[in-house]
Amino acid sequence: MTFGEIAQRRLHEIAACSQAGDGVTRLPFTPEHRAALDQIRGWMEAAGLQVHMDAAATLIGRYAGPEGSKTLLIGSHQDSVPGGGRYDGIMGIALACLALEKIRRDGHAPACSVEVLAFADEEGVRFPTALLGPRVLAGTFDAAALALPDRDGVTLGAALAGFGGDPARLEALRRDPSDVLGYLEVHIEQGPVLERRGAAVGVVTGICGIERNAIRFAGETGHAGTVPMADRRDALVAASRFIAAVSEQAGQTNSIRATVGSISVHPDAVNAIPDRADFPLEVRSVSDQARQGFTEEMRALGNRIAGDAGLSFEMTRTYVQPAVSCDPELSAALVAAVEQGGAAAVTLPSGATHDASAMSDLCPIAMLFLRCRGGLSHHPDEYASAADMGAALDALVHVLMSSGPGQ
Ligand SMILES: [Zn+2]
Repeated sequence: MTFGEIAQRRLHEIAACSQAGDGVTRLPFTPEHRAALDQIRGWMEAAGLQVHMDAAATLIGRYAGPEGSKTLLIGSHQDSVPGGGRYDGIMGIALACLALEKIRRDGHAPACSVEVLAFADEEGVRFPTALLGPRVLAGTFDAAALALPDRDGVTLGAALAGFGGDPARLEALRRDPSDVLGYLEVHIEQGPVLERRGAAVGVVTGICGIERNAIRFAGETGHAGTVPMADRRDALVAASRFIAAVSEQAGQTNSIRATVGSISVHPDAVNAIPDRADFPLEVRSVSDQARQGFTEEMRALGNRIAGDAGLSFEMTRTYVQPAVSCDPELSAALVAAVEQGGAAAVTLPSGATHDASAMSDLCPIAMLFLRCRGGLSHHPDEYASAADMGAALDALVHVLMSSGPGQ
């Protein structure tokens, strides 16, 4: 059995640690999470790692390298979305463990200390917060989040304590950046780029920044039958023009993803001219400058469309998360590891947030993406092949065995 096939078998087995229903549903601090950690502990022990769970319920497997060596962190999340797949998050943990197991079986040892991290909560499905584990390590966790309740009124703090974590000791988990070489994460791409380019794996250039804007076009309502077309100040018609233009203009760039995912209309009646259209505009890019430039263009466009139609236009930024760049040196190590097979490494940005986003506040980060069938993710049919996982594992082994990235 190849290591890729072992990964496939383990991911199949751990997929059973799920609530009933289609796909994998594994929320943090639940019996399913507990059962998954039992299996992950076995993976870590098979790789010869020292295993413990920290106060944030991150399961950590440590290989102690040469005396005084810094630590390379490799991780991802064990949790899933409701009805999710078998690979998102958990695959990164499985491959990190297997890479270390392979190195050990081959009679070798990594060039530095290594810790495999199985984070509890990345998806943010159970609580209105996420990324507890990496934020605690980076020292960016806001303790106020411990009071946030899930749907049943159980707070994050209570759920964590009930699972064997310790809300009072989170602050002490903060890592000293000078002890850490960097953070690596292997993750399925969750998009179609690698499949289209015929590549098993790709090296991530950066993680997109995100901003959201609340937009309102306001005009005048009136009777759908009596107000002549030329006299209308229809907010929804203006909004439609704007939304179509946003999509078109974003499509002409390489760097922008812009989405209007919902809309509300007032008075929302079949026979009334809409006087208000409210909707969010979400813009993502690995370049904060490109994102900000695009948003300003869209603001000018909205004002123009509204002005031409005798309407008002408001655009208010409600959320912003800056882009994260992957570390050139760590990424170069991944590129070299991928290219030892002969083909040039594909590079691509990540449109989604990952544990690596929060880890970037602690140390240099790099990510390796794996091709997933049909670009499908957050879906029961999510799939990565054993051969592709084998390719990612080989790259990881190469990085771990190289002279120690950054040393
Ligand atoms: Zn994920």
